[in-house]
Amino acid sequence: MTKHLSKIVVFRDTKTQEEFHIWRKPARLTQMRVASFVTAFLYIIFSKLSSLVVSVEALPLITIVHLYIIAPLLYSIGVLSFFQKFQNYIAILLSFATIVAAVGNLIIVTKLENYSIYLPEVYLLLFWIFTMSGLRLSYSVVSASLVFIISALGLYNFVVFSKELFYIHVFWMSSAMLFGFLTSYFLNRSNKIIFLNKKKLEELAIRDELTGLFNRKKLDEVLVNELRRSERFGHKFVLLFLDIDHFKDVNDNFGHQVGDNVLVEITKLIKHNTRSTDIVIRWGGEEFVVLFFETDIDMALKLAENLRQKVEQNEFKLVGHKTISIGLSANQEGDTADTMIKRADEALYKAKHNGRNTIEV
Ligand code: GH3
Ligand code: MG
Ligand code: MG
Repeated sequence: MTKHLSKIVVFRDTKTQEEFHIWRKPARLTQMRVASFVTAFLYIIFSKLSSLVVSVEALPLITIVHLYIIAPLLYSIGVLSFFQKFQNYIAILLSFATIVAAVGNLIIVTKLENYSIYLPEVYLLLFWIFTMSGLRLSYSVVSASLVFIISALGLYNFVVFSKELFYIHVFWMSSAMLFGFLTSYFLNRSNKIIFLNKKKLEELAIRDELTGLFNRKKLDEVLVNELRRSERFGHKFVLLFLDIDHFKDVNDNFGHQVGDNVLVEITKLIKHNTRSTDIVIRWGGEEFVVLFFETDIDMALKLAENLRQKVEQNEFKLVGHKTISIGLSANQEGDTADTMIKRADEALYKAKHNGRNTIEV
């Protein structure tokens, strides 16, 4: 699935990539919201501070750009981020706001005598895009590149700039972008590693180590879902409870390790003799559960009988022949996971009682 230990963390498949973005979404949204409100507030302060340093003629322009355009735009984005139907557009809106800020800055710089005090805004803006905005790395790269181009081309064409000053400006912008990019990249990388570890732990939590099958935790989850689905759509499904007969003898006669091997071997037999859509679970010890979806009891009986025969005929390594007993329960109205399991367990008990190597419903 992934190149795990290499320095670059890449998701090989788009499904994992997609899952990662879905997982990151809530945190990103919060960050974009905070970035919008905080930055709107800072632009208001910026606008007030400007009155201290620029001429009276230039002040209206700066006030319009900062106080009446950018601050309200950011504030609105922050507010929209609370509404679910707008949440998919926040990243686009925020990217758009960065372009507005770049153009605004350019207009101010071209109109001002002492423009140099407004150049740092661009450096901060570039760094902001990568680190503060909460935008995805790909969005950040596009937005920052556009800001860079607007500022560089604009200054080059409209401001009487010395060549040296222009180079210095481009240098500062490039540095801001580089720092921003690297910060964002490493943060993203850490998040990917956290995500992959989380996935691994989730997978481990529902797997049985010895057989690699799902465990009881997964059964509960699947059963609850399937019961809900069957209630709504009237699906039929069957729960098969399976127990190896006299398994204790295997441990007693051949040791625990050989017992483990039998469990692995029987896992393979169950897997081979059920359909890929069925779910096989190790309930615990030498007991297994199979869920036959979209299956009625007659069909399940045939599948179970086939499985019983296959196990009976199998020659287990060192141990020889073993048999299994099976209990079946089909879903009924008002069933819960517990009632379904209980009926299958009772059927299994009956099968044991009737001499083992049999199936009961
Ligand atoms: P029955 O036909 O009534 O089911 O008899 P049984 O001996 O199979 O049933 P019992 O419940 O008495 O014994 C189950 C045995 O399974 C006891 C336990 O030591 C063994 N067992 C449970 N988990 C494992 C495991 O992971 N590995 C091994 N080797 N043995 C296990
Ligand atoms: Mg048992
Ligand atoms: Mg047993």
